[in-house]
Amino acid sequence: MTKRVLIAGFKHETNTFSIQPTTIQSYEARGFKVGEAIVPYFKGTNTEIAAFLDGCAKHGWQPVLSLAADATPSGKLTKECYETIVGTILGDIEKAGKLDAILLNLHGAMVAEHTDDGEGTLLERIRAKVGPGVVVAATLDLHANVTQAMAKYADILVSYRTYPHIDMYDIAAEAVEIVKRTLDGAVKPKVYLARRAMIDGADHGRTTSPGPMTELLDRCAKIRSEDAGVLSASINAGFAWADIPEVGPTAVIVGDGNDPRFQAYVEGLADYIWETRDYRTVKYFTVADALARAKAVASVGKPAVLSDAADNPGGGGYGESTGLLRGMIDAKLENAAMAAFYDPEAAAACHKAGLGATITLKLGGKIDERFSPPIEATGTVTHLSDGNFVIEGPMLRGVGVAMGSTATFKIGGVEVVINSRRFQNYDRNFFRAGGIEPSERAFLAVKSSQHFRAAYAPIASEVIIVDEGGGVMSNDLTKLPFTRVPRPIFPLDGE
Ligand SMILES: [Zn+2]
Repeated sequence: MTKRVLIAGFKHETNTFSIQPTTIQSYEARGFKVGEAIVPYFKGTNTEIAAFLDGCAKHGWQPVLSLAADATPSGKLTKECYETIVGTILGDIEKAGKLDAILLNLHGAMVAEHTDDGEGTLLERIRAKVGPGVVVAATLDLHANVTQAMAKYADILVSYRTYPHIDMYDIAAEAVEIVKRTLDGAVKPKVYLARRAMIDGADHGRTTSPGPMTELLDRCAKIRSEDAGVLSASINAGFAWADIPEVGPTAVIVGDGNDPRFQAYVEGLADYIWETRDYRTVKYFTVADALARAKAVASVGKPAVLSDAADNPGGGGYGESTGLLRGMIDAKLENAAMAAFYDPEAAAACHKAGLGATITLKLGGKIDERFSPPIEATGTVTHLSDGNFVIEGPMLRGVGVAMGSTATFKIGGVEVVINSRRFQNYDRNFFRAGGIEPSERAFLAVKSSQHFRAAYAPIASEVIIVDEGGGVMSNDLTKLPFTRVPRPIFPLDGE
């Protein structure tokens, strides 16, 4: 009998400090594919869903396509948004009739208005519907806040092992192979989980230089090579910008069956995460220090790349904070550019004024009055576009991006690519969509805290991380209003 395997994707990294709710429209803006539309969108891309589809073809499984929904990180999902998407997935499972397995492409840090554990709640409801006989596998982001419910209700959890994330396809293919062995009756996967009292750790999961995360991944590889019963081992750095009880780093092992040695492995890994909690490979600069450093190293064609880390839309930042941009303008930088700056009103004003027009704009600082005030500046509209392009860099290569109405606005020597939908800048085409060839500038500023490295480090004279605090994605966690995490917890409380 042909095995029948349901495929669904429902991803979100929820920054609970953001006041921007996540709605169905947020999903439609980033990516919301239903049924057969999933295939042409994902086929051939570096994504989990592509690996799920290929896995079905490889093993002769019949794929049952539910939906694949992804939204840019922002605040909590509305109850309506969450229940609409979960309801569709559960409805598709019911309509599908007999299923052998369910492949889920999740993130692992989803929070909705009515549940702190978006994925755990989804998995619990799926399990309640299909019972214990259907294999449920989920892929997770390396920044998942893995919960007891997720471990209990999924048979298989596998997370990315790269940050910047470039191994989506590979880890999903790994999950598929464990599903295959399970369906063959060769293994009985069970998820083991351990965490310590910490919000952040493992150097936030960075794998670009040696540190706790690379050491942890080496240890995982060693455990796997020495113990055939370990079907998969993942380290999740956690997503710190979530004020929820089960926040923070975790070690996860998928073991073959019930055995205390699997729990011992994850406890050992969690101990190492705790021991290395103070280790940081990244230095954070104030705006002034960052610009001084950038001026010292930058040249045209070998740009200094400035990361506006506290405003990273990839972690729920609004993408419109003005601190770094104001600094760049005040410093009278030449040959400088920033992307992607979220301000639909300003983009519309540029389109209305037309190419070449000189206008005065109120730029950014419009969403959340707790943070940076708008910039009022006179400049020239140097490029207009619909904001559509295809990712060409290593992260999500081949995936289409629709930034919405996009305009480039030049203030002195600083060009700002202004877009109408929020995106983290992790590909050089975010500049090119604004008519800017990034390799020809001396200074590039990106709304991203880490993912930009995959695309920009190869052309950068130096990467400089800017974080003065005071953003919903600031790395100074002690400045954020946590109230619901269990106390004491690192780094809010002393030793
Ligand atoms: Zn991540």
